[in-house]
Amino acid sequence: MAKRVVVVGGGIGGTTVANRIRRALESEVAGGQVQIQLVDREGIHAYQPGYLMVVFEKMRPEETRRDESQLLHRSIQLVKGEVEKIDSTANQIVLKGGKLVPYDVLVIASGSVIHPELIPGFPEGAHSFYDLSNAIKLRSALHAFQGGRIVVSVAGMPYKCPVAPLEVTFMLDDYLRSRGLREKSEIHYTYPIPKVFGIDTVAQPMQRLMGERGVSVHVPFNVDKIDPAAKTISAVEGEALPYDLLIAIPPHRGADFVGASGLGDKGNWIPTDKFSLRAEGKENVFVLGDATNIPISKAGSTADYEAEVVTQNVAALARGESPTARYEGRVYCWIMTGLAQATYIKFDYLHPPHPPTPSFAHYWNKVIYNRTYWDLTARALF
Ligand SMILES: Cc1cc2nc3c(=O)[nH]c(=O)nc-3n(C[C@H](O)[C@H](O)[C@H](O)COP(=O)(O)OP(=O)(O)OC[C@H]3O[C@@H](n4cnc5c(N)ncnc54)[C@H](O)[C@@H]3O)c2cc1C
Repeated sequence: MAKRVVVVGGGIGGTTVANRIRRALESEVAGGQVQIQLVDREGIHAYQPGYLMVVFEKMRPEETRRDESQLLHRSIQLVKGEVEKIDSTANQIVLKGGKLVPYDVLVIASGSVIHPELIPGFPEGAHSFYDLSNAIKLRSALHAFQGGRIVVSVAGMPYKCPVAPLEVTFMLDDYLRSRGLREKSEIHYTYPIPKVFGIDTVAQPMQRLMGERGVSVHVPFNVDKIDPAAKTISAVEGEALPYDLLIAIPPHRGADFVGASGLGDKGNWIPTDKFSLRAEGKENVFVLGDATNIPISKAGSTADYEAEVVTQNVAALARGESPTARYEGRVYCWIMTGLAQATYIKFDYLHPPHPPTPSFAHYWNKVIYNRTYWDLTARALF
């Protein structure tokens, strides 16, 4: 009987890893010894880095979505359905409605889920850009904005794309200048720890840049509640900031089925070996992307680098060999420092990032990456 490799999640991590595993096991798949399936709730692949671009009209909403079936190699079977539970003793996935998907090797790439409702007043009082519909609403709110006080706030850690709040702040500054509204506006930035970003070598230059751009920094600021009527956001530290427009990053958790399967910690993140990317205590289960509990950026680039390692380990297991590939913590993210300039951070477990001076060239590299994402990363042609 064919060995069944099943990937859960058709986002950045799941799609690229399924295509890579197919390539690594090409002859086994063609010969019928290995079968690859990908399970996804909707069968729609969302390129979430595009949402920030939608806010500032650098991408159209439809450019952030593709049918999963267009991205997967034709030999990979797409199973549309919502995972309710993983029974890792019986080696099977239970879908909503009761359908069972058995596996020999499982890869979980179920991402993270945003929970605005965990902060009182968030759903009614704050704008966000962490899903497509809210990114579109924020785009309209910015069109209507005629000056005033904007607060950018991170309302819980961990959250995906740790640099996104920095980026929206710098892009906002350029955007207001381009509309002649900067003199009539204030930008305030709040962050839950005593600096503007988690890594010192990034926090320092970013805080300097905020100073140059006249952004007021409020740290540490752990959001307690939002009062949509009074238009204030309050911190457990006691500070309350009034706002005319609030842009906030909602709290994140892992997928519900992770908790229901007994596979997660209290935030539904899956305890994962940071080198092998195996789920702790599970020989035949690997995890990548936002779903892990690894203390590293939850980012598409993290998922992409992790996919290389998971591919080698899954291929080894499918061939009856020992998995030996190690993830060394590689991450590479661009940081938009304005509407047409960027820098980047590149780091791993041992080497902290040192962002270079922002430039148009770095921004252009990000634009090229966004345009080539569907072929080079998602289809894993690179
Ligand atoms: C505004 C914004 C900007 C960003 N910018 C960047 C950037 O510039 N660079 C960068 O590297 N990263 C960026 N990111 C982060 C990046 O998008 C995520 O880290 C990345 O998508 C994680 O990939 P993943 O495969 O783990 O999860 P996802 O891409 O979220 O995919 C998870 C998949 O699992 C499926 N799924 C979940 N639960 C179930 C279930 N129960 N049953 C079936 N299917 C399920 C979902 O439908 C989804 O398709 C950004 C994110 C946002 C929101």
